[in-house]
Amino acid sequence: MATKSLKARHDELAITNRQLEILNGGIFAEGELPYFKDKIAQIGHFPLRPKKLEILQINVGYMCNQVCEHCHVDAGPDRKEIMTRETMSQCLEVIRNTGAHTLDLTGGAPEMNPDFRWFVEEAAKAGIKDFIVRSNLTIIRANKKYYDLPEFFKKHNVHVISSMPHYTRGKTDKQRGEGVFDKSIKALQELNAVGYGMPDSGLRLDLVYNPSGAYLPGNQAAMEKDFKKALMEDFNIQFHNLFAITNLPIARFLDYLIASENYEDYMYALVDAYNPAAVQNVMCTNTISISWDGWLYDCDFNQMLDLKVASKVKHIKDYNEDLLNDRNIIISQHCYGCTAGAGSSCQGTVTN
Ligand code: SF4
Ligand code: SF4
Repeated sequence: MATKSLKARHDELAITNRQLEILNGGIFAEGELPYFKDKIAQIGHFPLRPKKLEILQINVGYMCNQVCEHCHVDAGPDRKEIMTRETMSQCLEVIRNTGAHTLDLTGGAPEMNPDFRWFVEEAAKAGIKDFIVRSNLTIIRANKKYYDLPEFFKKHNVHVISSMPHYTRGKTDKQRGEGVFDKSIKALQELNAVGYGMPDSGLRLDLVYNPSGAYLPGNQAAMEKDFKKALMEDFNIQFHNLFAITNLPIARFLDYLIASENYEDYMYALVDAYNPAAVQNVMCTNTISISWDGWLYDCDFNQMLDLKVASKVKHIKDYNEDLLNDRNIIISQHCYGCTAGAGSSCQGTVTN
């Protein structure tokens, strides 16, 4: 397993245009598979347009204590892109005035941003209904300075969403690195100990599953049952919901697909599983994603491909919700990952 990001390895896939060439070329350019835009045009959804803005997703930096095999951010300890307090202040201004009901902080490991706690304290005061922090769990055990994170999250009534690719050590460590499973279990127990994830607790703790190979996730409800049973029986751990997420063919997952010679088969599988009912609820229809340096995107995936919003307003300093809501969403073939099967978003499936 690689210990450095694609960027630090000077891999050609660290260049977003190279990724887009792959996604727009090959089997799609040759007409073997339809472009995503043609597929959604058949049901009258091209151009794809936003509905009401509900979620502001802020990526506070690409630095992470892990280097997971399938990371769509290409995050790792060697990534130095970190949101400054100045950009955070611009975000806070927007958070105080937005019509969105959910604030979703992500990374990297967002906790590694030196101003993370200040930002959470300030953002919590805005009284947004659902305040999510995406924590990779191991960060809570990575260093003494993070040991009190469960208490800190509790104090600010943060909704914790954490990746947990499997309830077995082998599958989790294969995807996320050796020792990740044991540290994640310990972190979950600590979150439970302060009240997170308990059946009647308002302290929300949700887990995210993503497949560890070139295949689509199974049924979300069935997997949630299996995870709950196994984590309770083996470790006395409780959590609220499991979100099943499809790996999108970008960044390190694209690298994995190409290196394992699975890229074409995976794209065929995504297109085969295309579900028109998922299109109207894809994440970009109710979300704006903000990067560490304040640029605006339709979603975290478009952010990683550096596909900025198609709007006059492109940066947080010029934020204007009405203008942003009047835009066409930028799509490419990676979008098939959001419409396969029951659909996929940062909150799990998008159809019932
Ligand atoms: S998947 Fe999450 S935990 Fe893993 S390297 Fe990427 S940002 Fe870090
Ligand atoms: S990848 Fe982004 S832009 Fe494409 S459908 Fe998914 S959420 Fe929308």
